Amino acid sequence: MTAVFVVNSGSSSIKYDLFDASTLESIASGLLERIGEPGGDAADHTAGMRAVLASLPDDPIVAVGHRVVHGGSRFSAPTLLTDEIVDEIDALSALAPLHNPANVLGIAAARAAMPDVPHVAVFDTAFHQTLPPAAYTYAIDREVARAHDVRRYGFHGTSHEYVSREAAALLDRPLGELKTIVLHLGNGASATAVDGGRSVDTSMGLTPLEGLVMGTRSGDLDPGILLHLARAGYDTDALDELLNRRSGLLGLAGRRDMRDVVTAADGGDQDAALALDVWAHRIRKYVGAYAAVLGGLDAIVFTAGIGENNPALRARALAGLEFLGVSVDPVLNGSASREARRISPPDAAVAVLVIPTDEELEIARQTLAAVGTLGG
Ligand code: ADP
Repeated sequence: MTAVFVVNSGSSSIKYDLFDASTLESIASGLLERIGEPGGDAADHTAGMRAVLASLPDDPIVAVGHRVVHGGSRFSAPTLLTDEIVDEIDALSALAPLHNPANVLGIAAARAAMPDVPHVAVFDTAFHQTLPPAAYTYAIDREVARAHDVRRYGFHGTSHEYVSREAAALLDRPLGELKTIVLHLGNGASATAVDGGRSVDTSMGLTPLEGLVMGTRSGDLDPGILLHLARAGYDTDALDELLNRRSGLLGLAGRRDMRDVVTAADGGDQDAALALDVWAHRIRKYVGAYAAVLGGLDAIVFTAGIGENNPALRARALAGLEFLGVSVDPVLNGSASREARRISPPDAAVAVLVIPTDEELEIARQTLAAVGTLGG
C-alpha cells in the first residue's frame, strides 16, 4: 500500500497527515508543537520532520503535499516544488510575513528528508484566482496597487473548494450549475460566492484580516480607523497587534473561543451578547451581498468549528432571510449528526447544508492529481 503525506508547517509547529494513496483513508496524523523552544517537541523543523517520518508506518510515500498560505497572483494550481518554486514562495513572504516563511521551513525539512519523492505546494489562495477583476480590485491608485501587489487574493481556498464540491455531491446536482455561498466559520472565518464551481467573490482580501468577525481579527472596518489611530500614536506593529490579535470576539467580549462567548452571553454578559449580534449581522450581510453577486442562490454551506457544531448560531446568522428563500428547519438543524447533511426544509428554495471540511484530505487529493498529471 502506498501513501501520500500532507504537511502543514507553522513557525514553531508541524501538523502532518498520512493517507492511503488509493483510498485516501487516513493512516496516521499528528502535531509537533513548540519546535525550537525549551521542552518543545523538536529542536528544529528538520529534526522534527525526521522524527515524524521515523514514527510513521512503513507504507512507501509516493508524494508529499504542502499547505502554503500565500500564492500571490503567481500560483493558481497545485505546483510541483523545485528550488526555483520554493524561492518564489519565499519571495511572496512580503504578502504573508507570518505564514510563507514558516511554510518554507517545512518544505525544506521535508524535501531534505525525502529527496526522491515529488513534493507539491497547495495554496490557500489558489481557488480564488478565478475572481473577476471587479471583485479583486481595490479602488486605490492603480500604480500604487501594482507596485505593492495590492489586490484581493482570498484564503481558506482549499476548504471552500472541497466543501463546494461536496455540496454538489450531496445535492446530487452538477457543480457547474450551482450558485453556492460557503461560510467557513472557525477561528478564522471567510465567506465565498461560488458560481459553477468557481470562486467569484470572497471576504478575505490582501490578507486574512478582511471580512467576517473572527476569534481575534476584526474583519471589515473603515480604513479611516487606521489613519485615526495612527494619528493618535499607534505605529504599524501596534495596529497589527490590535487588528489581528486583540479584535474580533476577543476584542468585543474578552473571549476568543466562541463557546466561551456563547456561555457568557447566556449568563447575561452584555458585551458577549453584542459580540454575537455583530458576528451574526456581518454574516447575514455577506449572504445578502453574495446572493446579489451570484444573481441567484441554490445553496448555503456551513463549515469549520462554529459552522459545523453550533445550530443556534447557524439559525441566528440566517435569521430574517426567508424573503430570499433561505430558512432552517429546527429539527434538522438541531440534529447532532457529524455527517454532511441538509438542514433546510425539503421544500425550501435554497438548500442550507452543513458539511465538515477536510483541508488535509483535499491537499492529499490535489497532490496526487498534480503528480499524476505531471507524470503523464
Ligand atoms: P481553526 O480556524 O483554528 O481551524 P476551527 O475550525 O477548529 O478553527 O474552529 C474553532 C472555533 O470553533 C472556536 O472558536 C470554537 O469555540 C468553535 N466551536 C467549536 N465547537 C463549537 C460549538 N459547539 N459551539 C460554538 N463554537 C464552537
